[in-house]
Order: sequence, then structure tokens, then C-alpha cells
Amino acid sequence: MKTYPYILQPYKGMSTRFVCPACKKRDKTFTLYIDTETNQPLHHTVGICNRLSKCGYHYTPKQYFIDNNLAYTKPIYCTPPTSLTQQAISYIPESVFAASLKQYSNNHFVQFLSSLFNADVVQKLVHKYYIGTAKYWQGTTVFWQVDALGKIHTGKLMLYNPITGKRVKQPYNHIHWAHKTIGQTHFNLRQCLFGEHLLAHNNQQVALVESEKTALIASVYLPDFIWLAVGSLSNLTLKKCSVLKGKTVTLYPDLNAFEKWNAKAKELSAICEISVSNLLQHNATETEKQQGLDLADYLVAFM
Ligand SMILES: [Zn+2]
Repeated sequence: MKTYPYILQPYKGMSTRFVCPACKKRDKTFTLYIDTETNQPLHHTVGICNRLSKCGYHYTPKQYFIDNNLAYTKPIYCTPPTSLTQQAISYIPESVFAASLKQYSNNHFVQFLSSLFNADVVQKLVHKYYIGTAKYWQGTTVFWQVDALGKIHTGKLMLYNPITGKRVKQPYNHIHWAHKTIGQTHFNLRQCLFGEHLLAHNNQQVALVESEKTALIASVYLPDFIWLAVGSLSNLTLKKCSVLKGKTVTLYPDLNAFEKWNAKAKELSAICEISVSNLLQHNATETEKQQGLDLADYLVAFM
């Protein structure tokens, strides 16, 4: 008789059903795949949502193994070979993430947003992009990197000036990482795009920028796009952008980075319909070009 290493967890009351990582309906609509030998779930995102037409989320064990570069063979969960466990991507515990989603009156970046937009808009932005608050420095903001399956890759901790909205770079560049603060020694980081979770069940066109701040602010002015940020130019690679496969994408480079992004666009055109906006190039003055004005500055000043 053929036995399967993973099955959908049989129903034994509501403790065996969970909140779907995609649609996040409060009623527990989600069934996990469990290991038939240990009865343990494979991963909290691997399962199926029962809202078939409205949500349709179904993450199979097979796909999970593919996504994490693991071989889909039965012995894996008995004695995981070290070579395979080393490759598995690490994620931030949901409790750490959830605990950061508050204290916005102490969050310098949110204070800056409140000087640009009304309270309702700010609140929606904070929820939409999962902006977090940390105590690392007084006023620290966390930009969580959550993928389309709800897995939390890391969070970028940054400190802003609450009045100007500029990053604090003196006496040192105030940037740190959530995965370095959770006391896990072997964290196998793979960054994802900021805002990547918004791609789930969404067919809107994508706009890609460098900084998290720009993505957030532009999403208010130009809401017809899903605004995502790469965080830094070095993340603008085919591998990190593989989630954009098949999408229509517009790159919005900062003023001093137009040529570099143009070159990257050619690379990314292998997987998506891509164009590079010259909105800033066309409209900026010489001084602004020298200052490396970004789209957020432009939108705040002129729209
Ligand atoms: Zn669902």
C-alpha cells in the first residue's frame, strides 16, 4: 500500500483548523498538511484554504520543498541531512513580528507620515505595509519583508528624523536587522521585496523603487500600482525579483541611479514586462538631479 508522507490534517474540532495566511479570515478556514509519522505540521503556511473561490490559497508540500531547495523525499523529516537543513531559509517568528505592530506614537517615520497625510491614510498605510516599531533606538521603524505566503524573511530597522523624514546617518548610519535581534545564531537569511505580500491575489501592475519610504509615499499618490521596494540596488536581481515573473512592472529609479536601473531592466525583461519611468529625469532641475532627488521627494513637493 502506498502511504503519503504528508496529508491534510483530519478535522478534530476547531483546534485543528487555522487562520489562512493569505486571506486571514478570522474564522479558521485553513487546513495544514501534517507529517503522517509525527503528526506535526510541515510549516504554518503549507496547507489549503477552504474559501476555494474567494481565496484559493493552496500551498502544497511539494511546492514548499521546491521553494526551499529541499529534496522531496520521505527520509527528510526522519533524519535531515545537514546539507539540506543548512539550505532551508530561516524566518522571523510571528510573535516577534506581531509584537512590533504598535506604539506608533513613538515611531519617528510614522510621525513624519502624519505630517504629510491625514490620520486615516496613515493608519491604512501602516496596516497595508506592516510598519513596525522597535526600541532599538528611540523612535525606530521596522520595515518587515513579508512574502506572498505570509512568511517573514526579516525586518529592516531604520531611524528617521520625524520632522524632515530623512534617515539618521550621524554619528553613524542607523540601520539594523530584525534577524540579528532575535538571538538565533544560524539564521539563513534570504531577503524578499518590501511589500511582496501585496502580490498575493492581486493583478494590479507593479511599480518598483529603491527605498521603502518611497514605496509607501508613492502608494498614496499613485494607488493604481502595487508599490514595492528592493531596499537597495544590490537586491535588484533576477533571483530576488523572481516573484515578479509574468507581471507588468515599472521601475522608478532615483535621479542618480537612472542608468544603473536601466541596465537592470534589461536583465529583468527575461521574466516580466518591464519599463523604466523617466518622470523624474524629465521634470527635475539640475540642482535636484545633483541632490539625487527621489520620487517621494518629488511627489511630496509637487502633487
Ligand atoms: Zn484563504
